[in-house]
Amino acid sequence: MNDFILDLKNNGIELNESMIKDFNLFYTNLINKNKTTNLTRIIEKQDVYYYHFYDSLMASLAIDKTKEDIKLLDIGSGPGFPGIPLKIYMKDLNLTIVEATNKKIEFIKDTLKLLGIDDVRCIHLRAEDFKELESFDYITTRAVSTIKEQLEYTIPFLKVGGTLIAMKSTLKANEEIEESKPLLKEIGAIVKKTISYKVLERDYSLVLIEKIKKTSSKYPKPLHKEKK
Ligand code: SAM
Repeated sequence: MNDFILDLKNNGIELNESMIKDFNLFYTNLINKNKTTNLTRIIEKQDVYYYHFYDSLMASLAIDKTKEDIKLLDIGSGPGFPGIPLKIYMKDLNLTIVEATNKKIEFIKDTLKLLGIDDVRCIHLRAEDFKELESFDYITTRAVSTIKEQLEYTIPFLKVGGTLIAMKSTLKANEEIEESKPLLKEIGAIVKKTISYKVLERDYSLVLIEKIKKTSSKYPKPLHKEKK
């Protein structure tokens, strides 16, 4: 895994021994649990390290690490991407994970316990039903839905000035930015920047969307009406 460590270092992401150990534990747990629970289709060691761990860590390039108590919400984390790699790398990160599938939340909790991490909130819920409005500095989404679809259930949870980090293949990023323009305007957010990078031979982009005003109370539109 020397290339993995070196390639990250070339992007300014330095892993220490303890972090490398944590990634080994995460990898072993993922592969073991994946034998009985469908968590990921990526199972070759090099692919897991690059397409899951390395790619997840690239989201840290969009985070201002000089700030204290950074509140980050990872929506649709699946088996923990990018949330768990970010937490391994940034141990002071104030991380909340919202994931719709219970078996994935259970896997995330199990992995965090294995890593001795006890300060991550893991919530089994669809983001449309989440209630913590205007609360987070960053939200990450990787392979969840199109940018346009996710604006309604991400932007409401950001503080004004906060950033949605939408992780996309570069091809999809450009298309999806275009189609989300009218809703971006309506919801009060702008595409601030895109950061492009390669994972092995594939091209990916972080689309950074900044919230510029408080969100209208009509968002997010809950999927489940409150019982009276
Ligand atoms: N982010 C992970 C990754 O990159 O490997 C998982 C991607 S997986 C294709 C999409 C995940 O998003 C699934 O685990 C699904 O349950 C979750 N999901 C989809 N829509 C969601 C929503 N509205 N709220 C919470 N989770 C959602």
